[in-house]
Amino acid sequence: MSKYFPKIDPKTGRFLPIPNGEKPPKMKEMEKVLGLIFEDDYNEKYLKGNLGQKRFANRWGVTKNQIFANKMRGGRRSWVQMLDLEKKSKIKVEQETSHAKGCEICGEKDISLDRAHWKENVKGGSSRAFNILNLCPNCHRKLDRKDREITEKGRRVLLFREVKKIFENKITEETPQELLSICEHIISNRKFE
Ligand SMILES: [Zn+2]
Repeated sequence: MSKYFPKIDPKTGRFLPIPNGEKPPKMKEMEKVLGLIFEDDYNEKYLKGNLGQKRFANRWGVTKNQIFANKMRGGRRSWVQMLDLEKKSKIKVEQETSHAKGCEICGEKDISLDRAHWKENVKGGSSRAFNILNLCPNCHRKLDRKDREITEKGRRVLLFREVKKIFENKITEETPQELLSICEHIISNRKFE
């Protein structure tokens, strides 16, 4: 098994973290071998599929910890942390509740909903809930075409979700400070000049 170690900062002698969204060499190498994109495979085979963590890690030629660990020694991060990928239990609950509520912009029900990224995937947007709108294909298309009305509605939906957490005092993984930076993220992306 080849391990990836972050580069060392020559000034401090400490490991530099891998920038968010950047892939470690082992992942890139395996993507070539398997002919797959890691995030897609994670989504298909692990989140939606029936591969457990161990079998999924085997498929990618690494240990379970390398992909899924919450804390690693020496400041290293697991692949899920590096790419900021959604965890399994959370995504299921979220999908079930969102499906019953329908499209978050127009309210359309009984339709398959898309997980639309607020900060676009290609720009390194996160797949965690704060960056995802559950939209009908119609609203999703309009959002991607930068339709002003739909974009502003989407922004309000996302902000409302976060602000509600603060007011309802919900126990979340995020601290109030993190919630504020999430709000800042929602406001500053997809801005019209
Ligand atoms: Zn819609």
